[in-house]
Amino acid sequence: MRIIRKTQCSGCRKYFIGDTAFFAHRTGSFDARTRRCLSTEEMQAAGYATESVLVNMYLDGKPIREEHDAWFEIAARERVRKAFGKQTDEDEEEDNDDA
Ligand SMILES: [Zn+2]
Repeated sequence: MRIIRKTQCSGCRKYFIGDTAFFAHRTGSFDARTRRCLSTEEMQAAGYATESVLVNMYLDGKPIREEHDAWFEIAARERVRKAFGKQTDEDEEEDNDDA
């Protein structure tokens, strides 16, 4: 199972693999006060899916890893796979500071 740094929305509590997927799930405009998160159904319709990942996070100051469903863009993963011949994400990183 892949390990990701914590990228969680404080609004909808969803987890994301990379900032690109995170920013993509926000829609509307600040000026019009219509800023909101896409729903699960809207995310799926827009080409996003979830997978189980281990998320690096802190609990009471201690590093822990928790399993969560995190969102990624299906097309972005396909592009990377074609370019590099393996499954990875350009903005994915493994956080080893608790090692
Ligand atoms: Zn959200």
